Amino acid sequence: MSNSESFLAKSTIKAADLEHRRKINFNIDKYNAVVPKGKEQFSDIHLARERAKNLKWRAIETLDQQLEEFELQFTRRGGRVIWAETAEEAREQILAICKEKSCKRIVKSKSMATEEIHLNDFLQENDIESVETDLGEYIQQLDDEPPYHIVTPAMHKSKEDVARLFAEKLGTDPKLTPAQLTQVARVVLREKYVQAEIGITGANFIISDIGAIAVTENEGNARLSSAWPKTHIVLVGIEKVIPSFTDLGLFWPLLATYGTGQQITVYNTVITGGRKEGEVDGPDEMIVILLDNGRTNILANEKARESLYCIRCGACLNACPVYKNIGGHTYGTTYSGPIGSVITPHLRDMGDWKHLSYASSLCGNCTEVCAVKINLHELLLENRHEAVESGISTLSEKLAWKLWKTASLNRRMMNMGNGALKSRVVNSLFKSWSRHRAELQFPRKSFNEMWKEDKEK
Ligand code: SF4
Repeated sequence: MSNSESFLAKSTIKAADLEHRRKINFNIDKYNAVVPKGKEQFSDIHLARERAKNLKWRAIETLDQQLEEFELQFTRRGGRVIWAETAEEAREQILAICKEKSCKRIVKSKSMATEEIHLNDFLQENDIESVETDLGEYIQQLDDEPPYHIVTPAMHKSKEDVARLFAEKLGTDPKLTPAQLTQVARVVLREKYVQAEIGITGANFIISDIGAIAVTENEGNARLSSAWPKTHIVLVGIEKVIPSFTDLGLFWPLLATYGTGQQITVYNTVITGGRKEGEVDGPDEMIVILLDNGRTNILANEKARESLYCIRCGACLNACPVYKNIGGHTYGTTYSGPIGSVITPHLRDMGDWKHLSYASSLCGNCTEVCAVKINLHELLLENRHEAVESGISTLSEKLAWKLWKTASLNRRMMNMGNGALKSRVVNSLFKSWSRHRAELQFPRKSFNEMWKEDKEK
């Protein structure tokens, strides 16, 4: 089954799953209730988003210089930087570090980049235990599922689902409350921090002028993962760069507001390197892996480049009527929702993933809510355009549109036959359209016929 067929099959099932919809709506309603509160901290929220977009524009337009500046500053303080062009390279580099450090246990904080390269499975194949320490990610790992949402990994699970999962996997009482479940996870995970030789985190931002990474989180697990083990590895996409430390004054509150409706996330950490002489905390070594994995394809594409401004707040997922109906796993990609549909065809393969750009009503709600004002719905249209231009549409699709164009440009053909006949012909030609939608119904007479009749009166 192709990716597109699997997407359609899964969507059909999920869209009819009312229990799934109830859980998603419950969680998104909670999000919608708090976001306006977070926005109140900005005197002009539109200006703040505009400024953030401009800063990301500058960072991406000068990406090579920003990253080199980051490397220069970070290595000057003893840090190590590795450039990984592909997922495979990144995995191999991490494995090499694990071997170098005789590592068998890893603690990991939430990172979509590590999901993108399927790091946990790879480490497991190499007999290295990698434990997720973010509560949502830990729940997903226990359930052997990928994250469902880029900010809220277990958004599709109710508290009862989680209690049942813990009972099944950890032998706890199935009636535990969320607070008790959190306590159980805390006890298990504290032990893991002490045992792990390496901690892996992502980064919300790469700060080029001071050569540091910034991590924002609500649980403190990224701090523990980065500070407790002797080695700290950061895996981060190259697009996460911001030019200056002072830019965090805008990006941190913006990300908190659009991500979770908070004014500021609970723990905000800037890490500039490993432990220095005389310091009591921190790892002996810190290594940053800068991941490309298709991002330079996006950079080379003048129109799609804008999607690299994304700060992964997840707001466009929460606002998308398609995401709310079919859920995160249906996409079959690391990044789901509108931003996932925009970037996946470029990160992976347009032919295999172009169908995601069609999974949109183009209502524009994603663009409306985007923290950095990315024109998401226009980029979805642009992907469709590129797919057609590059000639990867199916033969039947090409043929159908050719016929449609010929008929539309030919008055005699347009007036040929009545509405019922036209409906029959078009619906039999565009079968894939009407498989998931109501059939097209032509009016009894064409506009031209009605116009003529009107003139003759
Ligand atoms: S595209 Fe915009 S709204 Fe969507 S995750 Fe990225 S920054 Fe947030």
